[in-house]
Amino acid sequence: GEFWQDVPLAPPDSIFKLTAAYNTDSYPKKVNLGVGAYRDNDGKPWVLPVVKKATEKLLSDPLYNHEYLPITGLPEFTSAAAKLILGPDSSAIADGRVASAQTISGTGACHLAALFLIKFYGFNGPKHVFLSNPTWVNHHALFKNVGITPVEYPYYDPHTFGLDLQGFKTALENAPPRSVILMHPCAHNPTGVDPTREQWKELAEVIIAKHHYAFFDCAYQGFASGDLDNDAWAVRYFVEKKVPMLVCQSFAKNAGLYGERVGALHIISPGQDTAHRVKSQLSVLQRSEISTPPMHGAKLMALILNDKELFEEWKRDIKTMAHRIISMREELYRLLTEGFETPGSWDHITRQIGMFSFTGLNAAQSQAMNDKAHVYMTTNGRISMAGLNTSNVRYVAESVDKAVR
Ligand code: PLP
Repeated sequence: GEFWQDVPLAPPDSIFKLTAAYNTDSYPKKVNLGVGAYRDNDGKPWVLPVVKKATEKLLSDPLYNHEYLPITGLPEFTSAAAKLILGPDSSAIADGRVASAQTISGTGACHLAALFLIKFYGFNGPKHVFLSNPTWVNHHALFKNVGITPVEYPYYDPHTFGLDLQGFKTALENAPPRSVILMHPCAHNPTGVDPTREQWKELAEVIIAKHHYAFFDCAYQGFASGDLDNDAWAVRYFVEKKVPMLVCQSFAKNAGLYGERVGALHIISPGQDTAHRVKSQLSVLQRSEISTPPMHGAKLMALILNDKELFEEWKRDIKTMAHRIISMREELYRLLTEGFETPGSWDHITRQIGMFSFTGLNAAQSQAMNDKAHVYMTTNGRISMAGLNTSNVRYVAESVDKAVR
């Protein structure tokens, strides 16, 4: 007989499907609000000027080569990356309690973390990870792949378009002690809804009382507010409060290095000796999964993070992206309220933060945006703010207005 006859056809990835539909659409005013990548005001991909500069510097080095990196990655990259997320004065770093590994961007960091947890975390009963409802859909699949079952906690409140703090806290209280809780430290995907600092403090209190494990997936540091330190606040607060935790870090969005796959996993341990053993096991897992991580993007980021001038320039580039997105939020809000006087309340558009916004449009309205207005968005009502620009924001607002009336 033939092989693979019983393999069922998988549906195409919904985001990639949306982009394909957009690409074949000939309507001149078409807009793609599905894409999870930054676009400049002309709707084009943006190579950060600092990345251009670092690339020239890197490639002009006559000794540049294509050798393998060490198994856990480029040390100048992982140590600078740890400092970036945990803070330059982090006591965890000073005490040698951080075990870091370079990973295949944020996705690879989540995968390596999940693999480490299934192997070494003393799960209290069933092997569960608690994910926000909703979350980045890939979280579900990547945990299932390693044998960890996702369980959802309430997060988004569709009535306020904001955080369901009480539901979140109650779920943390009802979860078995020592549960693994995945959280987005800033720019929550897909809702754009983040806890405030006061709310993070309340959440930390329950997490500490229940001895839960904090799994931070940080894909948007700096991209949310425009300030790297501000966006790392929750992570640093949890470290300070000695919550057992790990952080997954991506440089896809904040450095525009999507396809270069630059990321890191940092596991914080109670002591240096434990960190040393954790790192040794990360090395073993990494070896069997990918052997060694990719080099080019890590070298670029190491240059940028370790050079004072380049680092300052990167911070300016981050502000350029974050502020363009924030200004698009303000403009969309202004057009929906003063402009078209669209029914409903829209202040969540400016309250939400980061790449995405949950507009509150229902499935039928979202579908109408796709079919009638040629504005491509997912049917959960999520739009990518990066897809908006000064040339299309009015058309998008007008289309929203028509869809909800
Ligand atoms: N985690 C979250 C919440 C994300 O939104 C993304 C990207 O969309 C990622 C992780 C991983 O992205 P990458 O693997 O490109 O770094």
